[in-house]
Amino acid sequence: MPNFVYQCSQCGREYERDDVRYLCPQCSRNFKPGEPLQGVLEAKFDIELIRLEFNRVHPDWFLFSAVEREYFPDFPVGGTPLFRAHRLEQLTGFSHLLIKNDGLNPTGSLKDRASLIMVAEANRLGIDKIVVASTGNAGVALAAICAAAGKQAVIFVPERAPTAKLAALLLHGAQVIRVKGSYDDAYRLSLEYSGVHGGLNRNTAYHPLTIEGKKSVALEIFKQNNNRAPDAVVVPVGDGVILAAVHKGFKDLRDVGLILKLPRLIAVQAETSDAIHHYFVTKKYRNAASPRTIADSISVSAPSNAHLAVRVIEESKGFSITVTDDEIRESQRLLAETTGVFAEPSAAATVAGLCKATPDQLAPTAAVVLLITGHGLKDIEASLSGVTIPEAVPPTIDNVP
Ligand SMILES: *Cc1c(COP(=O)(O)O)cnc(C)c1O
Ligand SMILES: [Zn+2]
Repeated sequence: MPNFVYQCSQCGREYERDDVRYLCPQCSRNFKPGEPLQGVLEAKFDIELIRLEFNRVHPDWFLFSAVEREYFPDFPVGGTPLFRAHRLEQLTGFSHLLIKNDGLNPTGSLKDRASLIMVAEANRLGIDKIVVASTGNAGVALAAICAAAGKQAVIFVPERAPTAKLAALLLHGAQVIRVKGSYDDAYRLSLEYSGVHGGLNRNTAYHPLTIEGKKSVALEIFKQNNNRAPDAVVVPVGDGVILAAVHKGFKDLRDVGLILKLPRLIAVQAETSDAIHHYFVTKKYRNAASPRTIADSISVSAPSNAHLAVRVIEESKGFSITVTDDEIRESQRLLAETTGVFAEPSAAATVAGLCKATPDQLAPTAAVVLLITGHGLKDIEASLSGVTIPEAVPPTIDNVP
């Protein structure tokens, strides 16, 4: 028996689990390719049932899962460390910083969380092929978990995807379609592809379980933070699904009565890829004109989850901020030098956003979680642009500076 229904984030209509697959059939009629999705669905759990069955001493976290335990493949995801960043505190003036290092997931990014639940859902439905458009990380996560589960992954990536991500995709045996164009082009094409050729489409926000999968990071932060919510979570934002997922996880915890207050969400976008930031600040939506940034994982013109993303920033009493590529490079170095964490540029953008937040926006004493969403080794080209490799010296001691 499923313990949830899908609810449309726009019109509020509710649907039984197997009566819909992707978007709200009503609201998605207004959707045009190249714009944010309309009618993104959220899983709405039977909160009374969870309240009754959840035991704080022996918690069964599967009560919060939209796919039953037996469908999950043997592929450990999550359980990444949450730890205090004392040296970063000294340098930034914030007195309570925590790092959630999700770059330590098996394929090096938070995307493993969404891909895992999608493979579980494919198992439940008996579907063997899963399709996704990705800037790289979601594709790698899906390719790896499909490899472990014996499923076929079809991955659409923009031509410029970093080589480490392409290498992983190909090694995992995925069918890789490199699209001459942007991530937005790949997104549109993958929807067309699964419409024509079938398979389960895992595009972010398009399939509602992508939000459910990623929310596990919020449940973990709660557990690791002594069963408390932090005051704020800083999230790098592309399509806005991680942002909505962090919110959803804490909202489920609040509804069940495990926390009283939701953490404030601080959305960080690259200056050139700022559609959600612009929408939040002006209340008017427009695409980001030319979303090219060193932070490839948050490079998007029309974020699929823009409508819900703006709403969750508001609901959490949070705010948004944009950062430049130079600020991202500096932050990648600051994070590496003060915490030992090597993050890809998109993940390091959280640190850049934190540094730009004013005391009016964020109290220096707040307990803040920096969500590090991806590992630095996944984009070596970008990291090399911030360092100089020293000349090789002859192997005699008088040549060593
Ligand atoms: C996907 C991704 C993001 C952004 O997530 P959205 O849900 O698209 O907002 C941020 N950082 C990394 C490393 C990612 O892979
Ligand atoms: Zn709707």
